[in-house]
Amino acid sequence: MPRELQIQVAPEVAAQQDLLTAHIAKLMQVSAAEIRHIAIIKRSIDARQKAVKINLKVAVYYNEEYTESKLQLPNYKDVSNSPEVIIIGAGPAGLFAALQLIELGLKPIVLERGKDVQERRRDLKAINRDHIVNEDSNYCYGEGGAGTYSDGKLYTRSKKRGDVDRILELFVAFGASEEILVEAHPHIGTNKLPKIIKAMREKIIEFGGQVLFDTRVTDILVKNSAVEGVVTQNGDTFNAKKVILATGHSARDIFELLDRKKIYIEAKPFALGVRAEHPQSLIDSIQYSCDFNSGRGEYLPPAPYSIVKQVGGRGMYSFCMCPGGVIAPCATSPGEVVTNGWSPSKRDQETANSGIVVELKLEDFKPYAKFGALAGMEFQKAIEQQAWHLAGETQRVPAQRMVDFTQSKVSADIPKTSYVPGTTSVELGKVFPGFLTQTLREGFTEFGKSMRGYLTNEAILHAPESRTSSPVRIPRDPETLEHVQIKGLYPCGEGAGYAGGIISAAIDGEKCALKCIDMVTT
Ligand code: FAD
Repeated sequence: MPRELQIQVAPEVAAQQDLLTAHIAKLMQVSAAEIRHIAIIKRSIDARQKAVKINLKVAVYYNEEYTESKLQLPNYKDVSNSPEVIIIGAGPAGLFAALQLIELGLKPIVLERGKDVQERRRDLKAINRDHIVNEDSNYCYGEGGAGTYSDGKLYTRSKKRGDVDRILELFVAFGASEEILVEAHPHIGTNKLPKIIKAMREKIIEFGGQVLFDTRVTDILVKNSAVEGVVTQNGDTFNAKKVILATGHSARDIFELLDRKKIYIEAKPFALGVRAEHPQSLIDSIQYSCDFNSGRGEYLPPAPYSIVKQVGGRGMYSFCMCPGGVIAPCATSPGEVVTNGWSPSKRDQETANSGIVVELKLEDFKPYAKFGALAGMEFQKAIEQQAWHLAGETQRVPAQRMVDFTQSKVSADIPKTSYVPGTTSVELGKVFPGFLTQTLREGFTEFGKSMRGYLTNEAILHAPESRTSSPVRIPRDPETLEHVQIKGLYPCGEGAGYAGGIISAAIDGEKCALKCIDMVTT
């Protein structure tokens, strides 16, 4: 049996095999030559003290052989002739639902409005370079969903470790680095995610499932309170008794469709704010207590941060922080500006960005009450459209230096930021309703007190960060996971209000697929 140890070492020891082996040999009072292998089980960074340490849980193979085992894909079955389940949306919820159905022996038919990962890149270029937003293919829509061109952070607040580990292991089996299994805060990176997503699609097709791109669902057919199928933008009908609805938090046309058809939905609180960008070296110096100029050194990764405060009775917090990353234009329709962030696997860009958002309450949507369940969505849309208008009616984003924002002062200039379509200097108070501006202003001042150096005019705020989670919930029965009124319709993932990131969306996709088990006849 390998011996498990919990140790704390300096970053250079954790990073260099010979130093780590020598350290452990000394601890175990054995010779380094007798240690055959050290397997890292968990790794995290402890930056609470001035000298940053790495916490490692390791399995030490001392005087015994270590055999490497590779993670295998589950035992998928050929489902070409099996009962069919329609999945709307090929985001993490839809893809993991499809793979789970195949494991169960059911045939998934995935209908995706966007393009495959390769083709999708062209449309991302068009947003960045030409300010053209394709309403079916963008940073939120297309193969892999909103998570494909992201930082690929794979942590979640889900306490069900087993569910999380299963998803992480599937990611590894489809090509992600095994590092994600040991890191306390694993991430994949924009450069690696598309290949993994493509491998998933190829597996779905290999085992008899279908994945149709450029296929936007425009209607859901319901008879006697049971789902019968869906209709696409070309007028094609797909019949099925089970439909997993995994269209994500940005599919406003789906929310409108459900509302029109009187399929019950409800407004849901979400969070909204700005995306802040700092020099990464500044964040490193705050988080690692290192010198701004000499930097974090070669053994520590670009530092992340996470901060939360109560400001005037509302939570204000960092969201989807991307160390060494880039701010992305995430609009899904022309006439709006939306930000989010991504990072490559090495997180080696010069800037750190993070959503800094304020908790919204249902009563904040009162001015949009006439929209009923869509009030929150209309509140969100109005802010995104206002941002578009104020920045010059292109994909340029309204921007302001952080201290200037707290002092309601238009910034005299905005330096180049990572947001490729460009910035326009705007007093960001004009983008938001008064209560939101006020909370953000006070909140940044509070943040500056806990993270010394954070509140600086070197930081540039981009507005808005508005797609933090769905503004609508599609209620479902907690037992069957079917819509509360419609048999066979499974609201799933982030768009339905049951997930808040890649991992939780994937877990929810699997959960919904498992509820289709009664179709298995064998
Ligand atoms: P989505 O991923 O939104 O997928 C929904 C899919 O449905 C889309 O592909 C869409 O095209 C399709 N669709 C919509 N309407 C229709 C229709 N009518 N017909 C057919 N298809 C339709 N989360 C993390 O955990 N970590 C991160 O690092 C991270 N970074 C992010 C960075 C960016 C830039 C963005 C935009 C998001 C990021 N997120 C991150 C959030 C994460 O991507 C989402 O939480 C997750 O993708 C939700 O999964 P989902 O399957 O529920 O929905």
